[in-house]
Amino acid sequence: MDIRGNEYVQIRLPLGSRILIARANLRSMATTDQLAQLFRETHHELRPRSPIPELRVEFFSFANVNNTIRLRDGRLLVRISDLLEGAPEYVLRAIAHILLAKMYRKPVDRQHAMHYRRYVSTQHMSSKAHLVRQMRGRKRIISARGHAYDLENIFDDLNRQYFFGLLARPQMSWSGGHARNRLGHYDPAHNAIVVSRVFDHPRVPRYVLEYIVYHEMLHLKHPVRLRGSRRCVHSAEFQAEEKLFARLEDAKEFLKRL
Ligand SMILES: [Zn+2]
Repeated sequence: MDIRGNEYVQIRLPLGSRILIARANLRSMATTDQLAQLFRETHHELRPRSPIPELRVEFFSFANVNNTIRLRDGRLLVRISDLLEGAPEYVLRAIAHILLAKMYRKPVDRQHAMHYRRYVSTQHMSSKAHLVRQMRGRKRIISARGHAYDLENIFDDLNRQYFFGLLARPQMSWSGGHARNRLGHYDPAHNAIVVSRVFDHPRVPRYVLEYIVYHEMLHLKHPVRLRGSRRCVHSAEFQAEEKLFARLEDAKEFLKRL
């Protein structure tokens, strides 16, 4: 610990190098009890007349900045990315608001959404996330960057535009072959979105690629229980959400003409 009360954590990198990372001042770090209290307060703001369900909040080591919420048997289970440990209270409040609002299908307050987005996109956070990704051994074997398009960019843009930045980015890659029968797919076993390389071409408009990636992001968001064979299942919920894509008709039209 240094004179300012910062504790340092030593991290070993590949090739034997080491770095020291200052953890946030421990005294200002939110405990899971404080977080749970924050969620209860937010719950009361959003649904003043409903009883607050039993709550469990934990920090969780996702490979990316990711936060999840689940209501099961009347219990709320919240998992906050451990990359956000030590985030200022207004950021944690923003996360509580976004997660609860999404779960109860209430509009997300713009101010909260902006606070969260700004915090996560700061240099500090993204380099922290990058480092942790390296440490957790998720190497990018296949490149997401094609000749015309970078799939990671497309994912990040869509994530901001349609998902409040809440989806954790899976491995993004272009398919090896030039098969046209499959535009793209989400592979849950490898947590990867694969897009046919046919579309990595300057004559393919960006909105077409965005549509293909958006569709696969919905598969990521609405997981399907597979029985035996691999199927592509689109629930009513899935289809309704797909209609939110801004240039849906244009993209479908382009794909029809291929
Ligand atoms: Zn599908």
